[in-house]
Amino acid sequence: MKKILIGTHNQGKFREIAYLISKKYKKISPLTLKIKSPPETGKTFSANSKIKAKFFSKFVNYPVITDDSGLCIKSFENKPGIHSARLAKRKGGFDLAMKFILRQLAKKKNRSAYFICNLSFKDKNGRIVSAEGRINGKISKNILGKNGFGYDPIFIPANKSITFGEMVKSKKIKMDHRFEAFKKLKKKIKTL
Ligand code: IMP
Repeated sequence: MKKILIGTHNQGKFREIAYLISKKYKKISPLTLKIKSPPETGKTFSANSKIKAKFFSKFVNYPVITDDSGLCIKSFENKPGIHSARLAKRKGGFDLAMKFILRQLAKKKNRSAYFICNLSFKDKNGRIVSAEGRINGKISKNILGKNGFGYDPIFIPANKSITFGEMVKSKKIKMDHRFEAFKKLKKKIKTL
């Protein structure tokens, strides 16, 4: 069976990416191979997903797919953006980071936000192909729902009235920024 390394330690991301990739592939986690993630030194989602693809591919002789993603809030000049994971770490976890965001947003009128995901695929010959997806929405007034991961309980996608945290997993996976990026990537990499 063909193998693919899904280069992320985030189990929420791993599950979503694994769900999207063809059943022809055995999906390998860096946890199984005891590989850590590289420092995210890039200034864009695209730069960071490529950094991860180049890094993880050093350890395997089969394809690698990586993700760099984050939540961009318009009233905060599109932050935390590429620093979304780092904000959660700094605040002591996602629950505290979401409470922090809700407190800061209480003073603002505009609650618009979007998620971005940049996926990079590196084949065994070293070619990297990337694609980016986005989903627009807004930040809820409260932390709602226990599904999903990360900032899902405060993000309400456009034209919906519930957060990703309240949505059944199978529905979120087929509409989010990762799905949009994956659709574009699949057009370029037919085998996925
Ligand atoms: P990074 O790509 O490793 O820098 O981490 C991205 C950050 O954004 C993590 O903290 C994720 O939990 C968060 N994030 C990315 N995609 C999603 C999503 O689909 N739902 C909720 N949080 C997300």
